[in-house]
Amino acid sequence: MGVGISLGALLQWLALPQEHLVNAVVLDGFIDAGGRIFIALLKMLVVPLVFVSLVCGAASLGDTGSVGRLGGKTIGLYLLTTAVAVSLAMMIALATDPGLGGESAGDLASASTFEPKPAPSVKDTFINVVPSNPIAAMAEGMMLQVILFALLFGLALSKSGASGERLRVFFSDLNDVIVRLISMIVSLTPVGVFCLMTQLGATLGLAEIAKVAMYFATVVIALLVHASVAYPLLLKTLTGLSPLMFLRKMREVQLVAFSTSSSGATLPVTLRTVEHKLGVQNNVSSFAVPLGATINMDGTAIMQGVATVFIAQFYGIDLTLSALLTVVLTATLASIGTAAVPGVGLIMLTLVLDQVGLPVEGIALIIGVDRLLDMLRTAVNVTGDATVATIVASSEDKLDREIFAAPEVQTAS
Ligand code: ASP
Repeated sequence: MGVGISLGALLQWLALPQEHLVNAVVLDGFIDAGGRIFIALLKMLVVPLVFVSLVCGAASLGDTGSVGRLGGKTIGLYLLTTAVAVSLAMMIALATDPGLGGESAGDLASASTFEPKPAPSVKDTFINVVPSNPIAAMAEGMMLQVILFALLFGLALSKSGASGERLRVFFSDLNDVIVRLISMIVSLTPVGVFCLMTQLGATLGLAEIAKVAMYFATVVIALLVHASVAYPLLLKTLTGLSPLMFLRKMREVQLVAFSTSSSGATLPVTLRTVEHKLGVQNNVSSFAVPLGATINMDGTAIMQGVATVFIAQFYGIDLTLSALLTVVLTATLASIGTAAVPGVGLIMLTLVLDQVGLPVEGIALIIGVDRLLDMLRTAVNVTGDATVATIVASSEDKLDREIFAAPEVQTAS
């Protein structure tokens, strides 16, 4: 990561012409291809992994009849952590006043344009969870639909007697093979991260960040507080586990999330870590982690909370208490509909701004710095998924505390 960013920054500083060999062949050639191949390899695994792993998980949950309780607990905790995240973000933003005295951002607003795309309504989000065609859902990577189908399939499997038993063995074997494949791809992480970070270093616009420095800093502070205070507190009080150990084991996941800006692409690494390093049993992790990657976006909600306060202050609009509460509610619900891919959080911000009557054009003010913030908030998003999965597993007695406490071993590919 460090080598990549430094090399990228050096290339930016050298400002070689676009057609220079180094730019054309190295940066836009090998490095660009390396980064894209790494992300594609991760994404390649997402649908088969979620489907197979969740069928196994649901099949064993079906036996115990605890699906409803587990589902309620998981979704409840996801919504709670998101509501806490956005409330915290707005409190910090109201203290730092990022949008006051933001004249320098004014020229940013006129220079950049933002074409708002319609965000899906809350009702559509719920209807869309049910796949009318599961194959199409898999082909298009509609994660909530894949999750629901896998869950129902696994439950049916657990109730199908001898036929179900044969299939269960098959899915369990398939799961082992996919886990092996993940290990092979994860061993390429250093190369993939290097390529992605070099590009970041080469294109990061420090001047743009300086223009909205207060907004940028507020989002970063809120993300840090949430990840290093709220999650550890929650983990410690609800499970008694060591937050330090948790964060240490989450490093690889956070690094991949940061580099790819996509909770979806990071999913194979998150699932592997949660099961094999944090000790969460497959019947909890296979459900909680993909669901979290899809509906739980605490980092995104934090950005939206700060952005709302920033845009309101910039345009001199007062946010009433009821407007603030509306932001908490909408950002929490919007996080369910936010796809786990780069940059979608900004599109969903239109929904939040609309709800409280703020000008959607305000997004133009912050679009220039969103790339880096997207990386940071995605790292928080995946940390939240793993935190909730661990808490739920602990409460259901489906957490292997020995695995959690074991020092990290470098798994061979
Ligand atoms: N990139 C984020 C994620 O995948 C979503 C967003 O905030 O745009 O988690």
